[in-house]
Amino acid sequence: MLRREHPREKSIGWIKKKLIEYYSSNVFELPDNLSSREFAVQPLTTQSYIRHLSFKSERELRDYILKNPPLHLYYSSALYLFPEVREMESKGYIGSELIFDIDVDELSSCRLMEQLHVCLDCGHLMYGNKIKKCLKCGSQNVVEASPVSDECMKKGGEAALMLARILRKDFGFDEVRIYFSGNRGFHVRPLCDDECLKLNGEERREIVDYIKGVGLDLDKIAGFGKKEWLVPSPDEPGWRGRIGEAIYNKFGIKYGERITWSELQKKADVQELKSYISSATVEIDEKVTVDVHRLIRIPGSINGKLGLPVIKLNEADLSNFSIRCELSPFKEKVKVKMNVTITDKTIMGVKMSVYKGEEEEIPGCLAFPFILKGLADVS
Ligand SMILES: [Zn+2]
Repeated sequence: MLRREHPREKSIGWIKKKLIEYYSSNVFELPDNLSSREFAVQPLTTQSYIRHLSFKSERELRDYILKNPPLHLYYSSALYLFPEVREMESKGYIGSELIFDIDVDELSSCRLMEQLHVCLDCGHLMYGNKIKKCLKCGSQNVVEASPVSDECMKKGGEAALMLARILRKDFGFDEVRIYFSGNRGFHVRPLCDDECLKLNGEERREIVDYIKGVGLDLDKIAGFGKKEWLVPSPDEPGWRGRIGEAIYNKFGIKYGERITWSELQKKADVQELKSYISSATVEIDEKVTVDVHRLIRIPGSINGKLGLPVIKLNEADLSNFSIRCELSPFKEKVKVKMNVTITDKTIMGVKMSVYKGEEEEIPGCLAFPFILKGLADVS
């Protein structure tokens, strides 16, 4: 007797087919030192990672992926003599890239972000940031149905830009690359030379503290408490320049003009001034930068949370970057059977009204994450 295929099995089969199609072409941006990196994957149907993989060439990597298309795909920020060895202390650590991560939903101005969530048990729709439990039935089977808001992606993009400028101006990096993580963040990666590769954890922490302005003494560095002192000029190096830039931009002061703190205090009180200055800090995830054994998503690989690839971005496009269907490699329309009802919502730029139990034809960019999250099955 023929066994009837379960809708979930059919859906996972579809996801697998789409991943194989995607990875069949030349999608990765890989470093020259590929054979010194540890690779790791999260397979489609398990929660745990397979680590300590090693590949000699892009072709070897692709052969592996096409046999076992993964949901998530990473390589190490570190270079090793023996990347395939399981024990970290026996891997022969050479050095590690300097990596920065900006997580949009961790930005202080986006903690209360309104992201659409759906309860898979009762179908209740909710708005909020990282909702773990259904407000109606108490189920923990709650998933995100829409990506991060445009407004918060924009803020994340601006933070990434600011970080790239600091890395160039204050640290002297010639090239800084910015990537969309494929879900809700940005990776900022300066091109790391030998000296940078060798930075230890403590030195990396100092860099993070500098960027975040941890322990910044405004009196000492900018004469904040001394009323007759001039506000630093935006073209000065380091933190003085950043403070100057924040203040000059906020008050529309012409670059080249000079102003004292006491004159400025006629326009705003001390607390306000401090909050403007704090806008010159960048909120980065310090765990990522300090950890020399970090795994990073491979540029060009699909982020299995939203089904979008990790993409290198032009700085000119960053301050208006938003998550849209155009970013998805899955262009064809797909017939699905919805497991929940979502009406009058715009998701990734697509207006939609779909109903539980009904067959709908939806764009591939939405079908992929909907099917993965269980909001729909292939029909
Ligand atoms: Zn519920």
